[in-house]
Amino acid sequence: MLFDAGNTLVFLDYARMAQAVGAALGVPLTEADLARHIPHASQAMEQAAGSDQDRAAAYLQALFLRAGIPADRLGEVRECLAGLHRERHLWSSVGPRSAESLARLRAAKLKLGIVSNSDGRVEEALEAAGLRQYFDAVIDSALIGVEKPDPRIFQAALAALDVEPDEALYVGDLYQVDVVGARAAGIEAILLGDGVAPEADCRRAHSLEDLVNRIFSGEMLVRPVSDLST
Ligand SMILES: [Mg+2]
Repeated sequence: MLFDAGNTLVFLDYARMAQAVGAALGVPLTEADLARHIPHASQAMEQAAGSDQDRAAAYLQALFLRAGIPADRLGEVRECLAGLHRERHLWSSVGPRSAESLARLRAAKLKLGIVSNSDGRVEEALEAAGLRQYFDAVIDSALIGVEKPDPRIFQAALAALDVEPDEALYVGDLYQVDVVGARAAGIEAILLGDGVAPEADCRRAHSLEDLVNRIFSGEMLVRPVSDLST
């Protein structure tokens, strides 16, 4: 079972971002000011063309514009966030029951892997979030030189885990990146989250916990893990 990292297993630390950007720009900004615009920002990212960096920029721009930061101050926001990220990885929040969900999958003897468009630091982020221990392989686009939706990054994960595409399942939060990419490598994909690509032609789950619960209860049958339900 393969996973995306950002917005699937680890999430941006919105409290730290709001505190630092608010202080740097001299404006009041809270975690809630940012968090309420996450669905809108995710949509902007899903629609952005180009590289993963372009998508990340579209996400942050939409988020801070909606939170009331004027367009002519977005350069300062970017500078502030880059400094924070250099200091300590910004993708450091973990979903409420992510660790327990991953532990259930491991206890069922599944091989688990990460396929992430990242900057060479996704392993560090997973380590800091306390999730690295659950994964047999971590594939970071910056380290192998190819990013999702290119099927080669998924193939690298299959090779690392020694499994065939039709034995694998991929879980991610972006249709164009995660679902399209996994399918190009012949892997079935599940889309996480409620806001993005509402018309998507794939199966969906609200969160990792929701997905794992539905797999173990037998409500969602997926080929590599269909024998887990009792
Ligand atoms: Mg993601």
